[in-house]
Amino acid sequence: MARRKKIYEGKAKILYEGPEPGTLVQYFKDDATAFNAQKKDVIEGKGVLNNRLSEFFMLGLANIGVPTHFLKRLNMREQLVRACEIVPLEIIVRNFAAGSLSTRLGIEEGTPLPRPIVEYCYKDDKLGDPLVTEEHIAAFGWASQQDMDDILALALRVNDYLSGLMYGVGIKLVDFKIEIGRVYDGDYQRLIVADEISPDSCRLWDLETGEKLDKDVFRRDLGSLTDAYTEVARRLGVMPKQATPMDKPKLIN
Ligand code: C5P
Repeated sequence: MARRKKIYEGKAKILYEGPEPGTLVQYFKDDATAFNAQKKDVIEGKGVLNNRLSEFFMLGLANIGVPTHFLKRLNMREQLVRACEIVPLEIIVRNFAAGSLSTRLGIEEGTPLPRPIVEYCYKDDKLGDPLVTEEHIAAFGWASQQDMDDILALALRVNDYLSGLMYGVGIKLVDFKIEIGRVYDGDYQRLIVADEISPDSCRLWDLETGEKLDKDVFRRDLGSLTDAYTEVARRLGVMPKQATPMDKPKLIN
């Protein structure tokens, strides 16, 4: 059987050429990395959970009219997505202080922010994804002013959707990161939510106990990452009852 073509391998995912032009297969690995890959491990079942959860969030977004790259889930670890040109920015939205914001500004973790704060980081692993301003983004041509207006609107819609969804299952959405892709319809460019939305890229705290249910469990050695992600999936009704995250992937060729 012919091997399919690998387009890109990142820290947590692999992109393969898709079955039709303009499509890609996104494979979710079990690899967990933190602090720009200085801390690494393989967490069995993480890829399966993130594939399911990202599907769930992207479908929900599409249902409220937010365009995404998601087309369909193919199997336990893979989904078919629309190929797009990734804007070289990580878009971070924060509702409560945590992580690098708390470190940078000395604000205690968990402090509610007066309004959602949107930050931009330049996607470059060698530089450690540095925080940049809209001045840098415009000056270096990473996105136009119109793109930035659209990106802000998309990021805030994703924030409202995810915050409400999580609140409904007793989880506080502290912050999250999304990536944005460009697709072209004829001469027109559109921006869509790309990459993934999962507990790898969000901070999720139990509303009552404050228990962390996201990648900070791995970053800060707080217990089982699979248990935390399974709890998020369970509350959202995402994992079918008989499925365990340990199921081995069925690779399609
Ligand atoms: O580390 P920091 O506090 O800036 O992270 C903010 C949010 O963005 C967290 O939810 C984190 O998981 C996410 N993030 C990410 N990928 C990065 C940096 C941050 O998913 N490279």
